[in-house]
Amino acid sequence: MAQDLYSILGLKRNASEADIKKAYRKLARKYHPDVNPGNKDAEQKFKDISRAYEYLGNPEKRKLYDEFGEESLQAGFDADKTRQYHRWQSAADGEGGFGVGDDYSGTEFGRFHSYEDIFGDMFGFSAAGRSAGRPAKERGQDVEYTLSIDFLSALKGMKTDISLRRVRECEKCSGTGTEPGSKLIPCNVCGGSGRIKVAEGPLHFTQVCPRCGGHGRVGTPCSACGGSGQTEGTEKIRVSIPPGVDEGSRIRVAGKGGAGRAGGSPGDLYLVVHVEPHPVLSRKGSDLYMDVPVSVGEAVGGGTITIPTVDGDISLKIPSGSQNGKLLRVKGKGMADPRTKTRGDLFVRLAVRLPEGGDEEMRSAARILDRYYQGDIRKNVRL
Ligand SMILES: [Zn+2]
Ligand SMILES: [Zn+2]
Repeated sequence: MAQDLYSILGLKRNASEADIKKAYRKLARKYHPDVNPGNKDAEQKFKDISRAYEYLGNPEKRKLYDEFGEESLQAGFDADKTRQYHRWQSAADGEGGFGVGDDYSGTEFGRFHSYEDIFGDMFGFSAAGRSAGRPAKERGQDVEYTLSIDFLSALKGMKTDISLRRVRECEKCSGTGTEPGSKLIPCNVCGGSGRIKVAEGPLHFTQVCPRCGGHGRVGTPCSACGGSGQTEGTEKIRVSIPPGVDEGSRIRVAGKGGAGRAGGSPGDLYLVVHVEPHPVLSRKGSDLYMDVPVSVGEAVGGGTITIPTVDGDISLKIPSGSQNGKLLRVKGKGMADPRTKTRGDLFVRLAVRLPEGGDEEMRSAARILDRYYQGDIRKNVRL
């Protein structure tokens, strides 16, 4: 993470100009490479201190840093355009987060002021050669994936592993696309500023340079990813499907979308659920409907039958004289509502079945049954 410039110099935000100068001189004297030959830590500290003073020691730059933070440290930073850009785009990219000590510094040593410079004319020192701009973070894209599950899994919920081809940040170059340790030269597209000017609608603003990704410098392309900063591979992802998901439900799996750029966070994965139909169960909202065959005897005389539910078998009373298609309600045995966690009801739809085949005795029994119809059973069937 980016270290705050003030804390690098051991100062509070309200430090005076004199405090800043004093702190810088003290630290620079202690960590200057000339007095710490071969000490990598000291060298890094000195770089950080120099950079912090470059900004905080200059009242104008300090004001911008106070307003914009890390972003103001980028090469080619334009305060007015950034303010416009932030207004135009609510989710600003490149907001902070890049370490002063990030290692894009293969050639940066040349901009150090010599020992004499620092302790000679303090005010004479100019920031010779801007540093390479810090790359702007970019969040990865969200990715959608259709997940087919069977009806019962949607009912009960499930955990499953899915294998997904995913673009990830290259591990070797940490997404920079540059071979670690390679020499950096200024980018020829943005001239080393890391940003290019673009016009969008009525506004003009700058945008991360696509060639160098905002680094301002380009090096040898990374041998693992060919310079794209991203690698593609298959990844097994464990996903948890909550009970009650419906056709078209979107399940978010945070951080499993496309890779971010330059240390930006990855996008999210959205699983769009497709529920396979079930032969005897269907769904309306959080209520379930189940078609259950009953015999003529059960329909006429009533009885108790056993039906399966996701919570196990239950007994169901069939009232005598139940017509074909009658709905019997079983409370609380429907679908879970993933939001309210309550459950709908199960409606059992009776389907009166005749015996298959049969003989003369069966047919005469049926004719006896027919005597009990009252009036014309088709009297309401008219056009
Ligand atoms: Zn790479
Ligand atoms: Zn560039």
